[in-house]
This record gives sequence, C-alpha cells and structure tokens, in this order.
Amino acid sequence: MDARDVNILVVDREEDLRYALAFRLRSVGYRVYEASDDKTARTQFERHLIHLVVLDAFTAEQEALALAEHFRSAQPETQILILVPFDAVPTRERAAEIGIAEVMVKPVSARQLMTTIAGALRKRFPEGAFPGQPAILIVDDEEDVRFMLAFRLRYAGYSVAEAKDGAQALSMIHQTKYDVVILDVMMPRMDGFEVLRRLQTVDEHPAVIFLTAVTQLEDRVRGLELGAVDYVAKPFDLEEVVARVGVALREKTRLEGANAASLEDPLTLLGNRRAFTHALEKEISRAIRFERRAALIAIDADGLKRINDAAGHEAGDRYLRAISAAIRATCRRVDSAFRVGGDEFAVVLTESDRAAAERFCSRFAEALAERPLAEGISVSASCGIAVFPEDGRCQATLIEAADRMLYASKRKRV
Ligand SMILES: [Mg+2]
Repeated sequence: MDARDVNILVVDREEDLRYALAFRLRSVGYRVYEASDDKTARTQFERHLIHLVVLDAFTAEQEALALAEHFRSAQPETQILILVPFDAVPTRERAAEIGIAEVMVKPVSARQLMTTIAGALRKRFPEGAFPGQPAILIVDDEEDVRFMLAFRLRYAGYSVAEAKDGAQALSMIHQTKYDVVILDVMMPRMDGFEVLRRLQTVDEHPAVIFLTAVTQLEDRVRGLELGAVDYVAKPFDLEEVVARVGVALREKTRLEGANAASLEDPLTLLGNRRAFTHALEKEISRAIRFERRAALIAIDADGLKRINDAAGHEAGDRYLRAISAAIRATCRRVDSAFRVGGDEFAVVLTESDRAAAERFCSRFAEALAERPLAEGISVSASCGIAVFPEDGRCQATLIEAADRMLYASKRKRV
C-alpha cells in the first residue's frame, strides 16, 4: 500500500485552513477529501473508505465531537485526529471518553501535524511497510550533510533513513523499499557511481538524485548516464533538494501509475492484483462495519505450464481465458473476480459464509466442465476458501488461509 491508497477526510469549517492542510497532505501523496460541514462530512465518509479523519473542532466543539462519535461507531478502524483550542479542556476530556486517540491542541505546527498523522496511519496499518509516506534514503559520508537533509525532508513529511557509506546503503536498499535515494558521489571505499551501478540490479530500484561537487560537470553527466534521475550540486540549497525530491517522486508515481493505471488484466479483462487488493480491503472494512461475512476464493489453474509447453503460449492464454469465463459465469453481480498472477485468480464473495463459498466452488467446477478447451482437453482449476472473520480478519491472514487450502487440495489432486 502506498500514499495514493490512503484516504484522508479533512473536516474544517474554515476554508483557508482546510485548503492549506489538504494541499499539504496531497503534496505527500495522500488522497484527500474535504468537508466544511457535518452533512458533507458524513456523506464523504459514507461514500469513501476513509482511513483517517482530521477534524478541526475549533469553532463548533460539540458538533465536532458528535461527528467524531458517529465516525467512531460507524467505522472503528478509522483513525480520528481532532484539533481543539488550548482552553477547551472539557472537549479534550470528552474526546478521550469517546476513544479518540489523537487530540491535538492548537496551535499546531505543520510538522507536528504531519508526524501525528503518520503515527495514526501506522496504527491503522500496523503490518508491513508504513503506508502514506514516501521513503527517502540519504547516503553521504558527511554526518552534517545527512543531518541537515534528513531534518528538512522529515519536516516536508517524508520518512527518512540515513546511510553513511555505499555498503550500508546497498544493504538497506535490499531490505527496504525506498522511493528516492539521495546519493553522494564522493565517498571513501565505494563511490556513488559504484552504488548506482549496483543498484540497477535491484527490482523496482529507487529514483536516485546525485549530490555532486559544483565544479564536477563530468560527474553530473556520468551520474545521469548511469541512470540517476537528477543531481544537486554541493553546496546545495535545502529548498532545492526538497523540490527535486518532489519532482523525482512525481515522476516515479507517474511511471508506476502508467503501469498500474488500469485496474484490469488485459488478457482476461478481470481485475488485476491492484484491483484485488482494493476490493478485498473494502470488503473487509464493510464486513467489520456491518458485522457481516465475506469469503475469499483463491483459484489456481491446473497444469498451465504443461499446456504452454505442449501447445504454446497462445493455447495457454486460451486456457486462462476459459477459466476466467467460468469464474465470471459463476459470480453474482455483487461478487468480484481478479487475475492476481500468472495462473492465479481470486474471487471476493460479498455476504457469503462457508456454505455459500463451497457452493460457488462446485458451480465453478461445473462451469469449467462445460468449457473444454478443445476436443479432449479439459480445463481444470483448484480452489481454496477463506471466510471472514473465522479464517482471518485482515487481508494477509485471509489470503494465507485461502492459499493454504488451495495447495492442500492441489496436493490431493496430483
Ligand atoms: Mg562525500
């Protein structure tokens, strides 16, 4: 999950404040919805899956509290951050009673606010990488340079890590996904060029901005030739670095967006993995909110490799399309189906318990049987079921449970 997947609702009666906050949050990449009154706030909250609400209680404290209470009971997972005037002690006490974790007393600095928002989102998404904050790695042998850059970039709302040499940087990059690396050229042992060269082998490698001495024109050229997206000449202006990081991130987002712009798998026209992640998250939230059930079905095409090897990839594609057609024929209107990997599919069944999921699987098997690929070539697939909440209460556990059952049934077949 990244910043673009995080929905924040900003509720503030004062247009200027709301605008400033929304602007700042958007610049870090969050998706932001705005509301100036209760009614709009409630509608926005209903319409979108809101992960975090920033609620300014500056002018109408009681209404703001009522609104917070409404959000809290409708969607307990949503993080609520409430801003109150410094003299509003009863409001603060009441907010604590309702169970609002984050109460900030105005005036609040932008940095404080961004840090608190980041912290609240960490609570909302405890597992895995921190969503919502682009991650920057600063690699420089000079501590002062690292300190200054880190300080300014954290202030800008980024998550910042530091490495003091190339070896440390490479090992960090292999372990954690960074969006941008700010890389000093002149470093002892391994210089920036060597780091950049080795970086090219990392999948989804980060955008690299070089730090070069102002006089070294050939260094800049060489860095760009090696694949850096930009450079900053030392001594640098901090604001320029922040601006260039922003440009690098936007460019990276645009490139990734071009790949993921469509939520559709071009071969089967089912949703792709990205669409699946969204749909499952939404379904889980809905199930939690309304105390309902939902089922996930993991489906794996049997013997795709054999068909690819024996009859070619075009036959393999037809095989996958036959499976997707059978899935589509089995789904109800409210269900959603996805191709999540080469020969893997997933179906999210709304309002379904285990019995309904089992019925889905047997109807799917019948639909497959009606669609032989050619005379004598049958189409087959294995299924695994996971039901919310008994098999798991979050994406990871549900997917794991469905996969476990899928592989168990596959082993039985083979
Ligand atoms: Mg240096």
